[in-house]
Amino acid sequence: MKDLHSFAWYAKQISPKLPKKVFKPVPSRLWGGLAYLLIVVAGFLTIGLFQLHPFIYLLISFVLGTSFAAMGFLGHEILHGTVVRKPWLRDFLGAIAFWPLSIGPKLWRKWHNLSHHVNTQHEEHDPDAWPTLERLSKTKLLNWIYHLPHGVRAFGSFASLTLMFTLHSARMFAAYIKEFNPKHRRSVWVQLILPWVFWITLLFIMGPMKWVFAFLIPLLIANAIVMGYISTNHRLNPITEINDPLANSLTVTVPKWVDVLHFNFSYHTEHHLFPGMSSKYYPLVKKHVKNMWPDRYHEMPIGKALVALWKTPRLYYDGNQLIDPREGHVYSTLGHGLDISNITFRKVNKDDALERIIKLSKSKVGQVLKDK
Ligand SMILES: [Zn+2]
Ligand SMILES: [Zn+2]
Repeated sequence: MKDLHSFAWYAKQISPKLPKKVFKPVPSRLWGGLAYLLIVVAGFLTIGLFQLHPFIYLLISFVLGTSFAAMGFLGHEILHGTVVRKPWLRDFLGAIAFWPLSIGPKLWRKWHNLSHHVNTQHEEHDPDAWPTLERLSKTKLLNWIYHLPHGVRAFGSFASLTLMFTLHSARMFAAYIKEFNPKHRRSVWVQLILPWVFWITLLFIMGPMKWVFAFLIPLLIANAIVMGYISTNHRLNPITEINDPLANSLTVTVPKWVDVLHFNFSYHTEHHLFPGMSSKYYPLVKKHVKNMWPDRYHEMPIGKALVALWKTPRLYYDGNQLIDPREGHVYSTLGHGLDISNITFRKVNKDDALERIIKLSKSKVGQVLKDK
């Protein structure tokens, strides 16, 4: 395996080639946010004030869901400080953008900026990384899931994308709340509770039927869109001891108009190289990365990435492979032989595999990764 480098190492090589303006915040991104906010308010008023055919409500739900997701993408950008720099304004605007997904800015910054970005694809420290076979052996629920046939599991995991972002954010709240300074803990709670108070109030104002179309269905759609991207961000890549975005991240490609609607969220490798840069400039970063490290960079159309996710298990084996422990089928990851147009596996004895991986100490797993 090629040497791994930190994101700072890459950033240092690319930065001199970029114009200075790319490192400045881009407040004009907020116009897009305002447009989505107006669409959401108009959608709520239409559902709330008019008696329409359920099919029309469903269409509005779809527009609301895509707007919720897009606001989340903007919220992500805002809370990286790439839209405005003033901390109070950044958090205020981030709270509005993440309001439909009910995530508070303080929790998000801790979970995403300070944990996921710093420890990307680290098996223990990345809150968004998927489990290793070693961890599976200790978790009953995961163990049970991996005893289901692959098709059932793949269908279940794709269906669960409609809930996963909301469930994961609740898990993150439970995991991180204790880590906040007691002085700040109250505001983290307030930032969680306020959006939910708003949504529950809306339930009483609109009544349950209209609320399902105005909030619940859009929330499921937004979860599916957001998770459609997030699940492809790192899950076909290996886990890495060194946080190397070219090894552990994937950029997906979508039609240009989708990139416009989603604030270039598809450029995930570029985002991990320059999280403090507005995503407006990621196409430029991509050009340089592809020039400088063409054999390290991973990109593919989002549809292909999702098909590859369907076909492969989500359990790491030796750090750079994926294993289906039920069948003993081992798949490669990106950069280690995974060919998305022809996904194949090799068979291992599952009991031996489990035993071997448990015997490997964590440092040894790291060594395996570095040596290969
Ligand atoms: Zn990421
Ligand atoms: Zn980020």
